[in-house]
Amino acid sequence: MNFATLTVHAGMEPDPSTGAVATPIYQTSTYAQEEPGKHKGYEYARTGNPTRTALETALAALENADHALCFASGLAATDALLKLLRPGDELVSCNDLYGGTYRLFTKVFAHFGIKFTFVSMSEGLDEFRSALTDKTKMVWIETPTNPLLNVVDIEAVAKIAKARNIVTVVDNTFATPYLQKPLKLGADVVVHSCTKYLGGHSDTVMGAVATSRPDIYEPLKFLQNACGAVPGPMDCFLVLRGIRTLAVRMKQHCAGARQIAYFLREHPAVADVYYPGLADNPGHHVAEIQMRDFGGMVSFYTREDSVDNAFAVMKRLQLFTLAESLGGVESLVGHPATMTHASIPREERLKNGLRDSLVRLSVGIEDPDDLIDDLKQALEG
Ligand SMILES: *Cc1c(COP(=O)(O)O)cnc(C)c1O
Repeated sequence: MNFATLTVHAGMEPDPSTGAVATPIYQTSTYAQEEPGKHKGYEYARTGNPTRTALETALAALENADHALCFASGLAATDALLKLLRPGDELVSCNDLYGGTYRLFTKVFAHFGIKFTFVSMSEGLDEFRSALTDKTKMVWIETPTNPLLNVVDIEAVAKIAKARNIVTVVDNTFATPYLQKPLKLGADVVVHSCTKYLGGHSDTVMGAVATSRPDIYEPLKFLQNACGAVPGPMDCFLVLRGIRTLAVRMKQHCAGARQIAYFLREHPAVADVYYPGLADNPGHHVAEIQMRDFGGMVSFYTREDSVDNAFAVMKRLQLFTLAESLGGVESLVGHPATMTHASIPREERLKNGLRDSLVRLSVGIEDPDDLIDDLKQALEG
């Protein structure tokens, strides 16, 4: 089945009790039992809820996985995965990482005896290879990365990790399964912030994990129930509803971002533009191979590299709302250095190439001509 068809039909069974075509919101905390232990498959809503089951079934199908599990947020999904590690274990991650993930690794799990190493993975894998030790149990990658949109070769990383029996996790939030299928490329686990493109309407916070490895799925399912960071049925309904239009939305996000990237590149008030679809982007070749298109995110430096100048441009924008997050139908603009990546020390940030004036755009599904007019007036202020 083709992807667009799957987005509409995956996990979509008419409700067995009423025939309802839209998955009902099972707003209940518990389920009646005929006698103790005799029930219709659901006992208590932390453990399971039919709306969540429908969403988990859909997500597994979209990621070509046997299983998916939903969590209360993207970070709750990451938190659950990290709990598969034990004190003394090591995790190697790319260094251009979502700020909240970096914070969870270094400010929470580091205190429990897990060691984190951050390396560049978008310009060759030598640094990555030499960071692996006998204690490395997990490799964590984002691609395209946030906010510089570097591209990591999933297949190459997963191959190196697999040879050493290390689990490869890919944060597929930016690409979504519309653009990229990490499990097909050899990764073991996909993690999502459904808050972004999967939900797609900036109205829900949620996370998910997809995997076909029973030795990962089983303990993770245990943790989902044991730790309890589960989403409610209304949130599951909203993300499921978002998924139904994922393919058409992504198509428009990608088309808009492409036009905007080309516009920005020619503009005299703009310095470097980061978008994997540009032929001279260092990740372009790998992106062409592992992605269907190049995504809806575009980042750029203003010609004058200062926080003030970036702020001035952002302030003049009318259609791009200044806000955290991304992946909704409406265009958003953010300033990573002071917003999403404020938890990363400035020195560390500069070392990883994230300078002060970086502006990050989440290109929505508005008409790209209107978005370009808006950017033009903001840059020319
Ligand atoms: C937003 C985001 C997360 C965290 O997800 P939440 O739903 O906000 O907890 C993780 N990874 C990436 C790439 C993100 O953009």
